[in-house]
Amino acid sequence: MTSKRYTGPLVDVTDERELCIHSAVCVRGMPAVFDTSRRPWIDPREAATPDLADQLRAVVARCPSGALQIVEHGEDQ
Ligand code: SF4
Repeated sequence: MTSKRYTGPLVDVTDERELCIHSAVCVRGMPAVFDTSRRPWIDPREAATPDLADQLRAVVARCPSGALQIVEHGEDQ
């Protein structure tokens, strides 16, 4: 499966499109980051403060399919 990574200032988000079940938890939870009318549709740069990054972590944790994952900076280096 192919996973795409979207980079933000505090956390990154990876997305495995094949897993998505289109529940819209992400777009309802944080529309500034998840906007399907925009390319790229995921923009973690919109979560530029610690509070917004926490909100993004919480929304991604609620993704029911596991398509979305948070990558903390420093975790993969
Ligand atoms: S929350 Fe997860 S499963 Fe639901 S639309 Fe977003 S990526 Fe897809």
